[in-house]
Amino acid sequence: MSSAIYERLAAISFSRPSGTREEKNAAEFLAGEIRRIGFEPEEESFTYTQRVPVRAELTAVTANGERIAFPVTGLIDSADTAPGGDEAEFHYLKSLDEVSLTRVRGKIVLLHDRLSEEEYRRLRKAGIAGYVTTSGTVRDTPENSDLETGRLRHQLPDLDAVPAFTIRMIDAVRLLRARPVKLHVLLQTEERTVRSQNVTVVVPGSDKAAETLVVGAHYDSVPFSLGAWDNGAGAAEIVELLSHLRTHPPRRTVKAVLFGSEETGLRGSKAWVQAHENELADIQGMVNVDVGGSILGKEIVFVTAEDDAEVWARQLLLEAGYEAVTTQRVMSSDSAVFSDHGIPSVSLGQGAPRGGGYMHTRYDNMDLISADVLEAEAGFLAQLTDRLANAEVFPIRRVIPEKLRKELIRYFGKDKSAAASLPPEEEAKPLPFHF
Ligand SMILES: [Zn+2]
Repeated sequence: MSSAIYERLAAISFSRPSGTREEKNAAEFLAGEIRRIGFEPEEESFTYTQRVPVRAELTAVTANGERIAFPVTGLIDSADTAPGGDEAEFHYLKSLDEVSLTRVRGKIVLLHDRLSEEEYRRLRKAGIAGYVTTSGTVRDTPENSDLETGRLRHQLPDLDAVPAFTIRMIDAVRLLRARPVKLHVLLQTEERTVRSQNVTVVVPGSDKAAETLVVGAHYDSVPFSLGAWDNGAGAAEIVELLSHLRTHPPRRTVKAVLFGSEETGLRGSKAWVQAHENELADIQGMVNVDVGGSILGKEIVFVTAEDDAEVWARQLLLEAGYEAVTTQRVMSSDSAVFSDHGIPSVSLGQGAPRGGGYMHTRYDNMDLISADVLEAEAGFLAQLTDRLANAEVFPIRRVIPEKLRKELIRYFGKDKSAAASLPPEEEAKPLPFHF
């Protein structure tokens, strides 16, 4: 079965990483589709800088002096080594427990997960000289896997970055089997300015035009991936929503945004809130779509708003007969940037079953995409948008509760989160009624 959404998604299923010609091509294709529907999209370009690895090497040195080189990539925004490389003892850091942390000072550690700001702080305090993280699975082969370029997420004003690398999981096993005593690592980065773009469409409201609802999805992908599931699907569904709004004009103004450069640190949404700073006060809520269209997996509605809003979302699922679960938390996507600025958000995503997920790999292509699933998701997106855009009173209060605000501060970092400076929650509560 085929459909307009499926065809649009298929048309942008090519690797379109942040700042590339391919990313711009996808933006232009989507803008063209929006024009065909009858709206005039605005391409808003923005730039950001990052330190990109240009050379990354890792060699294990064993007790008997044997040297074994492993293919690695450097993490974006991590630090350079000395020009000739750094040599340090090696430790496999299985967890950040108290015993392990006493054994890592001055060493380069192997670990598996992305680090939260707090974890990175703990590792720096424990004195690590650098780290190596893993990508992929133990079933990969060098031929069927790609070594992704991750990013040191936390640029903390009070802490330096360390040299950081990514190694294939299969090579991490080989590395451990070699029982290295030392690692020799080399990393050279270069500061680059990246130019990317958002595509914004304003659908004017009728009788409540001063109030705004933002709907959006990112259209960029990580390198290697064709980004069908993450998140060409969301972008194609937003275009479908515009087609719906063409024939069902909203009462509130709807600003639809296709974000560039989400995968490199929510750059598009950050640029958008900055460029539209004077419009933020009028935005009642944000609806985001990130990850969808797979024939496998469950639909998830992330509600970054008060408890009542999650109840409201669940009621809407019952009313719509839409099979999905709700969760009250922050989604790691563009919606977090809006909620960090005090705007409640609802994000539609899709979770994969164990063994059926392939995010940020070459297997995120059209193979598992289903036109039926895309249609169902777009259908619910249209209902959700209609309800929010047309309600007599906006059904979600413009409040980010304390627990979610803490989650946002954890996510963006204490010094970077706008949530840290929002007025206290109490002030936003309605005044008690007096007789
Ligand atoms: Zn995504």
